[in-house]
Amino acid sequence: MTNQAILEISVECDTEAAEAISEIFNRYNGGDYDSDTEAGEASGGGAVIESTGFDDWGKPLAGEFRLWVKTYIKPGARGDEIRRQIEEGLGHLSAIYPIAEPQFRTFVEEDWANAWKKNYKPLRVGKRVVLKPSWEEFAPQPDDLIVELDPGMAFGTGLHPSTRLCIAALEEIVRPGDEVLDLGTGSGVLAIVAAKLGARFVLATDIDPIAIDVAVENAGLNDVPIGPEGQLEVVLGSVPTGMTDRFRVVVANILAEVHVKLFDAEYGYPPLAEPLAPGGIMILSGIIHFRADIVVDAATRHGLTLIDRKQEGDWVVLVVRKG
Ligand code: SAH
Repeated sequence: MTNQAILEISVECDTEAAEAISEIFNRYNGGDYDSDTEAGEASGGGAVIESTGFDDWGKPLAGEFRLWVKTYIKPGARGDEIRRQIEEGLGHLSAIYPIAEPQFRTFVEEDWANAWKKNYKPLRVGKRVVLKPSWEEFAPQPDDLIVELDPGMAFGTGLHPSTRLCIAALEEIVRPGDEVLDLGTGSGVLAIVAAKLGARFVLATDIDPIAIDVAVENAGLNDVPIGPEGQLEVVLGSVPTGMTDRFRVVVANILAEVHVKLFDAEYGYPPLAEPLAPGGIMILSGIIHFRADIVVDAATRHGLTLIDRKQEGDWVVLVVRKG
C-alpha cells in the first residue's frame, strides 16, 4: 500500500481571527453544507483548531497560550484548486486583519493521525469531568468522571474553550434518564460526557464521516453501549428528521453562522429548534463573543428564550429554553 501525501495548511492567529480563518477553511475544504448533495460527501475536514499553553485546569496561561487554525487537504484531483482558493481567501482576509503567513506541510497518512498526540494530556473540565487520552496514566479522585478520548482526525480534544464550556453546561443540565442530542459530535466527547452523566439515550450526529468513525471508537473506549437500542447512537447527518419535540437537552458546538443557518433550516435539514422538547434546554457553543447576538436573535425567532450565557476567553456558550 502506498501512502498518499496530505497537505496541512496552518495559520497561527489570535482567537479573534480564528473564526474568519475557520470560515475560509470550512468554505473551501469543509463539510458539504449543500442541501443538493448527500450529507457526508465532504471534500475535506474543514477547520481544526489547535491550541497549547493551558494550566492543569484547562485555563489559558498568559504569555504561553498559542492558537492555530489548520486544515488538511486530502489527496485528490481538486487539491490544487482548494489550495488556491484558500490562499486567495487568506490573502483577502490579511488585507483587513493582520494574520500570520500560512504554513504548508505535507504528511503521510500515518503521521497525520498521530501528529496531535504530543500536546494532548489529561485535562480536568467543569467540576467532575477529566478528559484523558487513552495512552496516558491518570489517578482519579472518587467523584471524577473519566472520559477516554482519542480524537484522531476529528475535532474535540477538550482543548478548545467552546468544548469546555459545553461540558460545564452539560454537568449542570443533564439529569439521569434524559434524552440528549449532540449535533456536530466530532470526537464524540460531548455525547460521551452526556452518557456518563446518566443520559438514557444520546443521539450524536455529524456531517463528517471521519467524525462518525472516531465517535464510535471513543464510545467503545468508554464502554458506552452503541446503537439504536444502546445508550448512544452515532449517525451521519445533522438535525435529525422525524424527531419533533423529542430531546430534553440539545447541545451543538458549531460556529455562530452555522447555528443561524441551522435554525433557519438553510441546509435542508429540519430547523434546529424542532427536535428540542417543549421546556427543554439547548446549549449553543462555538460562538465567538461578537457573534453571539446573531445566534440569540435566531434562537429567539424560533421560540427559544435565553436563560444563561457564559464566556471563556473570546468564546461564548448560550443556554436557551424552548417556550
Ligand atoms: N462536539 C465536539 C466537536 C465540535 S467541532 C466538541 O464540542 O468538541 C464541530 C463539529 O460539527 C465538526 O465535527 C463538524 O464536522 C460538525 N458540523 C459542522 N457543520 C455541521 C452541520 N451543519 N451539522 C452537523 N454537524 C456539523
